[in-house]
Amino acid sequence: MNPGLDRLYPGDCQAAWPLAQQLMAEEGPRLAATGLLQEVSRLVSLAEELENRMSEPNRVCAACGARPDGGCCSQAIADEADAILLLLNLIAGLKLDKPPVGTSLACPFLDQDGCRLLFKPIFCLNYDCARLKGGCDPEQFARYQRQRALLLQGQWRLECLLLDHLRTQRCPV
Ligand code: SF4
Repeated sequence: MNPGLDRLYPGDCQAAWPLAQQLMAEEGPRLAATGLLQEVSRLVSLAEELENRMSEPNRVCAACGARPDGGCCSQAIADEADAILLLLNLIAGLKLDKPPVGTSLACPFLDQDGCRLLFKPIFCLNYDCARLKGGCDPEQFARYQRQRALLLQGQWRLECLLLDHLRTQRCPV
């Protein structure tokens, strides 16, 4: 990968945050001229539908994340949120504050209603703990899994498009 683009994956969400903001400020207007924004809005609908399906499980995750060890929504997982993923959330119009530096072991993107990210790290979308699986109707859960697979494919496609775009620009970060 282009060494400039390597910096977008710092392995630390606090370090990724200013990079995403800088990219949004400098590339946002140029991105409007590409087909990428339409792709993002298509994916936003899918992600929002998934969020609605997840409202109950999200509360389970939030309660679990408030435990002293952070549950599976922990600071370690938050660091999977790289600058491209955060940029996608910003492009989607999410009003996100800088993730607070950990005062607990819980993920800083987690609040009492669940995860604040619309587009989440791959790990977060893929992982189903036993409590989550056990607490959902099997048919509904299977539907959720199919929809989630579509979202993952979409996120991956968008990430590739964004990286292609950044490769053709002087990467500003
Ligand atoms: S990004 Fe969201 S789903 Fe992932 S660990 Fe944080 S709160 Fe949980």
